Amino acid sequence: MGRLAQTDGLTEIQRDILATVREFVDKEIIPVATELEHKDEYPTEIVEGMKQLGLFGLTIPEEYGGLGESLLTYALVVEEIARGWMSVSGIVNTHFIVAHMINAHGTQEQKDHFLPRMAAGEIRGAFSMSEPGLGSDVAAISTKGVKDGEFYVLNGQKMWLTNGGTSSLVAVLCRTDEGGSTPYKNMTTFLIEKTPGFGANPTVPGLTVPGKIEKMGYKGVDTTELVLQDVRIPADRILGGVPGRGFYQMMDGVEVGRVNVAARGCGVARRAFELGISYAQQRSTFGKKIAEHQAIQFKLAEMATKVEAAHQMMVMAARKKDSGERNDLEAGMAKYLASEYCKEVVEDAFRIHGGYGFSKEYEIERLYREAPMLLIGEGTAEIQKMIIGRRLLEEYRIAG
Ligand SMILES: Cc1cc2nc3c(=O)[nH]c(=O)nc-3n(C[C@H](O)[C@H](O)[C@H](O)COP(=O)(O)OP(=O)(O)OC[C@H]3O[C@@H](n4cnc5c(N)ncnc54)[C@H](O)[C@@H]3O)c2cc1C
Repeated sequence: MGRLAQTDGLTEIQRDILATVREFVDKEIIPVATELEHKDEYPTEIVEGMKQLGLFGLTIPEEYGGLGESLLTYALVVEEIARGWMSVSGIVNTHFIVAHMINAHGTQEQKDHFLPRMAAGEIRGAFSMSEPGLGSDVAAISTKGVKDGEFYVLNGQKMWLTNGGTSSLVAVLCRTDEGGSTPYKNMTTFLIEKTPGFGANPTVPGLTVPGKIEKMGYKGVDTTELVLQDVRIPADRILGGVPGRGFYQMMDGVEVGRVNVAARGCGVARRAFELGISYAQQRSTFGKKIAEHQAIQFKLAEMATKVEAAHQMMVMAARKKDSGERNDLEAGMAKYLASEYCKEVVEDAFRIHGGYGFSKEYEIERLYREAPMLLIGEGTAEIQKMIIGRRLLEEYRIAG
């Protein structure tokens, strides 16, 4: 472990958890990540290992069998995992978001029913807001839930579900139009339990996960569509039991998700820096190691500064949330900064590798294809800037 991206003030438990995860990443993830990624293969053994470590229950309260850890612990764990392979952090992330939403907004029955099995990793979560026609403009969703006695009948098409195939629980945002005063109050989150896999779902008639979307990076983890055709879901599977709250529940979920994406950016950037500074001390040109050329040293200096700045901002955003304060401003800033810096650090590490950076034999090639996803997931840079800008005008409103 190097000097960069240290976190002051951690408890002994947090330090122990991080040391364990770091060792797991170095031994079990980094050696196999690139090969699995090139084959687009789901990392089954890694997931089993994470189950054993209790990582699926990291933030779930102890009363439900989890470790009851903070958002900060979670974010630091994600940073370590993403340093090994970003896709693996994606497998944990949607699960974490759904568990957070159930814990924060679910009925007691929903918490008792889902959280213990989620903590054990037996149920794994995915969440679904996006549709083929929209991602940023969530309020424009068209997937509909219509009340029919004690059930709701769901129809529509969803897009870009991370873990859409491998998950066994999907939190799906639908328009329910039951008299809310604004579009935001007419949306409802449904908790749909399904059998993992692709094609027509054997346990939920009318629900289909067509197959994996082919992606430029972020491979191994499945990203899918979800088709709902007259899917009947009991009314008691509305998150929180009351319709019309789904938009706010999902926004709460993506807010913690944003800290998570920032943490992923930090992890990927740190790995890129490690690869860059290592390669720069091995490759020679014009009679000396390239690390001795000032132009390369300047690159390394810029990369390290970005790694450090993004880490500290991510930690600050997580701590704000853990303190119970509103953190949308800090989460937006952390996500924006960490994802942009990650892309830049990865690009610099790629340039340091010269032609070899273009070869699939070098890890930086994988990172180069992974970093762009962080610019999009949990809200694009433009959406973060809209959130940041709006909050700044609230904070700095002048009288008159
Ligand atoms: C690999 C992957 C995994 C994903 N996983 C999930 C998931 O698990 N669950 C889920 O629900 N979604 C998921 N998504 C979807 C993701 O959240 C959306 O792709 C993202 O929110 C952007 O939406 P969009 O793709 O529809 O782009 P659009 O909203 O169409 O935006 C296109 C461009 O216009 C810009 N833009 C949009 N509105 C404005 C505005 N008002 N002002 C200025 N610029 C604007 C955007 O910033 C972007 O540059 C995933 C996406 C990817 C690629």
